[in-house]
Amino acid sequence: MTLLDHLRGEMAERAAKALIRRRRTLDTPCGPHAVVDGREMLTFCSNDYLGLAAHPALAAALKEGVARWGGGAGAAHLVSGHYAVHERLEARLAEFTGCERTLFFSTGYMVNMGVAAALVGRGDAIFADRLNHASLVDGALLSRAEHHRYPHADTAALARLLAASTARRKLIVTDGVFSMDGDIAPLAELLALAEAHDAWLLVDDAHGFGVLGPQGRGALAAAGLAHWRLLMVGTLGKAAGLSGAFVAGQGEVIEWLMQTMRTYLFTTGAPPALAHALLTAIDLIEHGDALRARLTAHRQQLHDTLTLHRWQLMPSPTPIQPVKIGDNAAALAAANALWDAGLWVPAIRPPTVPPGTARLRISLSAAHTADDIARLTESLHRIEAQP
Ligand code: PMP
Repeated sequence: MTLLDHLRGEMAERAAKALIRRRRTLDTPCGPHAVVDGREMLTFCSNDYLGLAAHPALAAALKEGVARWGGGAGAAHLVSGHYAVHERLEARLAEFTGCERTLFFSTGYMVNMGVAAALVGRGDAIFADRLNHASLVDGALLSRAEHHRYPHADTAALARLLAASTARRKLIVTDGVFSMDGDIAPLAELLALAEAHDAWLLVDDAHGFGVLGPQGRGALAAAGLAHWRLLMVGTLGKAAGLSGAFVAGQGEVIEWLMQTMRTYLFTTGAPPALAHALLTAIDLIEHGDALRARLTAHRQQLHDTLTLHRWQLMPSPTPIQPVKIGDNAAALAAANALWDAGLWVPAIRPPTVPPGTARLRISLSAAHTADDIARLTESLHRIEAQP
């Protein structure tokens, strides 16, 4: 058997479990009404929570950024790829999050891949929520620290694990908003445990930044938490409508990350033009209360009008609104039926979510209208009623 035969066998196994993912192609800018694979669709897939991805002010800021700064950064930040506009963006993000200092990255994946290894290593221990994003799992493995995974949001279980640990240094890692469930981590309890056990606390607020808290400052601001042992990760490809990410925290800690994070040191800096446009994105977030109010109204409308019998709308307080179906093939069939009705809602299956919890992941945006939500509700009612 050749390597290629082996690979074909594995692919066939995936197909048998309804785990083959389909990549669709959009021919319009990011937004609820899109041309997808040549069809006009109403979409509930993106993380463009505030509807900024296609905002004219961001498009104009990108143009302006390119005119001022040209194309690429040309090198990694610590070589010669760090520009005044990166510096301004980091200062703006620090002011906005209320953290002493921030470090700007090309993607959230790179932050999460690198940050754990900068704080802990062999002989140390990481304590991670079982539902954490894949990038945090990968980052934990890369650090070579022991990797303890506690049941989702179970702070009592976490306390037991921390108490039993003899590790030299400890790091607690959690999503702020869980990307496939939409619920918010028990952040105050986690910080209290971090203090009690002298641990770092890393919060990946990819889905809370721009959406939660005063002016969209994120889940930690919503909970009123700040501490030197707290590190916040924000991503800029979701509510901020562009791309990039940052880690925020106490000044010396961020300096240490800048000196040691391999995913910072050994990668080309993001284009300065992007940093320029991100300054506008932060302004739009800061002044985006009306957009956040629309999101809240859409979520309320969905909960008020959707009555499911076999499936379950999960009780999420964020724009991530999952409908749990359970079986992989059933979730896929539901997504396909929605697709046929002109609605694009992704079916999320293992390994992204635990086995037996396949779901439709509805993602709401301020760019949706009340009519869009009504159409979604009617379609879900009709499709759930089909045998
Ligand atoms: N963390 C979470 C919780 C995410 O959902 C994602 C992206 N899906 C990331 C990190 C990665 O961020 P980025 O897309 O900027 O790489």
